Amino acid sequence: MNVDEIKEIKELLSTPKKVVIVPHKNPDGDAVGASLAVYLYLLKKGHQVTVVSPNDYPDFLKWLPKSKEVYKFDMQNRQSKRAIDEASIIFLLDFNALHRIGSDMQHYLEQFSGDFIMIDHHQQPDDVAKYLYSDTSICSTCQMVYHFLEKLDDLDKIDTDISTCLYTGIMTDTGSFRFPSTTSTTHKIIANLIDKGADNAKIHNNVYDTNSYGRLQLLGRALSNLVVIDKLKTAYITLTQQDLDEFNYQKGDTEGVVNYALSLKEIIFAVIFIEDIDQKIIKISLRSKGKFSVNKFAREHFDGGGHDNAAGGKSLISLDATVSKFLSILPNYKNELLSSYEE
Ligand code: 5GP
Ligand code: MN
Repeated sequence: MNVDEIKEIKELLSTPKKVVIVPHKNPDGDAVGASLAVYLYLLKKGHQVTVVSPNDYPDFLKWLPKSKEVYKFDMQNRQSKRAIDEASIIFLLDFNALHRIGSDMQHYLEQFSGDFIMIDHHQQPDDVAKYLYSDTSICSTCQMVYHFLEKLDDLDKIDTDISTCLYTGIMTDTGSFRFPSTTSTTHKIIANLIDKGADNAKIHNNVYDTNSYGRLQLLGRALSNLVVIDKLKTAYITLTQQDLDEFNYQKGDTEGVVNYALSLKEIIFAVIFIEDIDQKIIKISLRSKGKFSVNKFAREHFDGGGHDNAAGGKSLISLDATVSKFLSILPNYKNELLSSYEE
């Protein structure tokens, strides 16, 4: 995003507008945090703003300021469409292509005639936005929103609620400030957000220490289903719909489970396969350490993508067939897997 574009956006936002903000489907802490931060900022600037999420998000994000104001396109379809029809600007946050919001909402937004502003840190963004701020080196969309406000000379608009939202997204997308994308700039921004009112201990507690008993039991099942393939430095977990039902699965309960597989010593590639009978898909999450690109792996084989070290995808065949496909592909990556993490 160059100086002229920033100037144009400043001009665009200098008079009251109707604005819609859209995160990706199944939004995570970064997507919801960024959406609510931009929402609160634009409200302060005098705009009429609506956040329209494609669908619901996990309970551990529902304490975020103004999260109750978010429309879900699938559940509040009429209101969501009205907001989109009336808007002249739509922010697309934390995703790189319209198909990431699900086909119904994708087709609706494809007819939108106003200006899209995309802020995102995923690889290979589609050419859909008039204004694109894309940077795959930045750990989170929330950090990019901070830089965006900085470019607009509006850092002084960041209050306690906005800093809480931005802190949450940076924290969740960096695995609590531990992934390689966490830089000294990230820590400086986090320090500023604490100064502006973000209550760090409370945010960590609200997101990570509010588990249900069922969720921990489901984690127990996932860990007992863990399979380790030492010779390919790979580990994977499967969860059937029956496993999910047995422990009263709630949205978000499987978030982060794949990281336990990656936490094994010597393992550099971890995958979780989760059966979703309703959607007739196997949802796949992939993680890696070092140079092995799960973005590439997910794009090539499982209709997905993401980042080099964290990506997602899906499969339309059965869980068993999906795992068999995975196991048959894996040996082709032997060299990359064995050389990914040389000390
Ligand atoms: P997760 O495994 O936590 O769902 O997603 C990991 C990362 O990959 C996130 O940045 C997410 O946005 C991205 N991602 C997840 N699923 C998909 C997918 O189906 N397609 C693409 N392109 N990216 C995905
Ligand atoms: Mn993100």
